[in-house]
Amino acid sequence: MSFSYRVHVFCDECGVHHDLDFPISAGIDATLDRRLNDLYDLYEGREVPADLIVLQSNHFECPTTGKPFTQKNTRQVFLIRTA
Ligand SMILES: [Zn+2]
Repeated sequence: MSFSYRVHVFCDECGVHHDLDFPISAGIDATLDRRLNDLYDLYEGREVPADLIVLQSNHFECPTTGKPFTQKNTRQVFLIRTA
């Protein structure tokens, strides 16, 4: 079973959370919004899905400025479950 999420990330430049159009799916039921670091904890000892590994690069694009930015703090990256 797979679940779909959107990614919300805190942008240090704007000081707001951006809802990035970055749908990912993960085979884990996060019934509530999850911080990325919590999600990695859930996968401890198991294979992390490719969709989540992409997020480990911590590179995002700010939709306001169009500039790439890095959010190294995985507590500031949220997965919002959509399905
Ligand atoms: Zn921004």
